[in-house]
Amino acid sequence: MGLCRRQSYDLVIVGAGMVGASLACILDKSRKHSALSILLVESTAIDLDAPPAQPSFDARSTVLSHGTVDYLRELGLWEELKSNAEAIKKIHVSDQGKFGAVRMNNAELGVEALGYVIENRLLGEMFNKSLAAIDSLEICSGVSVSNLKPEPAGMTVTLQDGEQQCSVTTALVVMAEGGRSGLCEKLGIHRSRESYQQEAIIANVAFSLPHENVAYERFTPHGPLALLPLPDHDKQHRAALVWTRNTEEVSSTLALSDSEFLRQLNEEFGSRLGRFTRVGQRNSYPLSLVQAQEQVRPGLVLLGNVAHSLHPVAGQGFNLAFRDTAHLAAILLEAVAKGTALSDVSLLHRYRDETQSDQHMTAMFSHYMTRLFSSKNIAAVWIRKFGLFSIDLVMPVRKAFARRAMGMGEAKVVLGADA
Ligand SMILES: Cc1cc2nc3c(=O)[nH]c(=O)nc-3n(C[C@H](O)[C@H](O)[C@H](O)COP(=O)(O)OP(=O)(O)OC[C@H]3O[C@@H](n4cnc5c(N)ncnc54)[C@H](O)[C@@H]3O)c2cc1C
Repeated sequence: MGLCRRQSYDLVIVGAGMVGASLACILDKSRKHSALSILLVESTAIDLDAPPAQPSFDARSTVLSHGTVDYLRELGLWEELKSNAEAIKKIHVSDQGKFGAVRMNNAELGVEALGYVIENRLLGEMFNKSLAAIDSLEICSGVSVSNLKPEPAGMTVTLQDGEQQCSVTTALVVMAEGGRSGLCEKLGIHRSRESYQQEAIIANVAFSLPHENVAYERFTPHGPLALLPLPDHDKQHRAALVWTRNTEEVSSTLALSDSEFLRQLNEEFGSRLGRFTRVGQRNSYPLSLVQAQEQVRPGLVLLGNVAHSLHPVAGQGFNLAFRDTAHLAAILLEAVAKGTALSDVSLLHRYRDETQSDQHMTAMFSHYMTRLFSSKNIAAVWIRKFGLFSIDLVMPVRKAFARRAMGMGEAKVVLGADA
């Protein structure tokens, strides 16, 4: 069969990473889009018999906030993930060598868990299986979108597979391609980038004491270090490590022998989890705050990392994108129910206006936490010293901090509003 099976679709989603896959699943689970024809284009090949190959679903783990889990549950997607996810029941935030720590727990906030940690490859397996089961979705994988051309009633989308090329038209393109494909540059959409001069080293680690469902966030002179509880495996206590290092220290840290890596980790983190005993595959990710200067244009929406990419310190990037995705889906479904064309730009302006404050607050929360806790400036050191101490003592401040960390800072989107 040729590259393009049809000439025209109501919606084209570019990218089946965490965000593009979420959009397709949310639209399907709402079961109100039977009239919508959707094409999902993913440049890596999706093979259900092999581990998920999309970059979203690599060796990382993701903290799913309380809000995200609630919504996945509502969509019927949580059951499959639940048995492989570990609940976070306490969060312990501390500053290495300083007095004061913030401790939050699920009981005082009246929730069963503050969030859950899941390995990305398991998220990928769930998403790929769910996508394959959507009858009304056409998936074109192993194929890239190489160009987008604005038209009066939407966009022309060029698909490319090696030398082979074809075009389809659509009322709306949702770009969830992560921001590395060059499509933004071709469209003249500027994305501001502020480098943190840091990279996150990730790995799964094992240690001698049970984690007791505590997520640790420790700020060190090199940058934040997070240990996120994972289910035990082969009788070993495990956590996902996100160890932020200044860029110039990254290659030497990655090159350390396992025993030296674990020794340095013990030195930075201390002995709350006993002795670190094993480390798995290590990868690193350069960290920047990236924000697209335009997220909507007629016939176009940017979603996920291409729209905003945050420091992973507070585990907010996907959770924020998931709220955006749910919001966009609700607006699109409402439009379909009312017979409004998806190319109607007022829909996209409404999406932009209604998500702006959540995006801004979440990006600033992650950004200033990183800046404050990475700074050696004497004022920042004093704010940290008394800030952590007072957040821990003052219950309403602690609750507000926890609500933002749990992704409960904004009102929840009600899906499938079709009136
Ligand atoms: C170390 C680290 C830890 C993190 N931890 C957390 C956390 O705990 N909680 C949290 O909420 N967030 C976390 N994040 C953020 C989260 O990983 C991102 O928000 C998420 O991966 C964004 O997904 P995406 O689908 O937008 O982009 P991507 O993952 O980049 O996916 C884009 C997809 O589009 C495809 N694609 C690209 N170009 C094209 C094209 N031209 N045509 C077709 N397909 C294309 C790609 O192959 C890919 O599959 C973390 C990030 C990092 C770096």
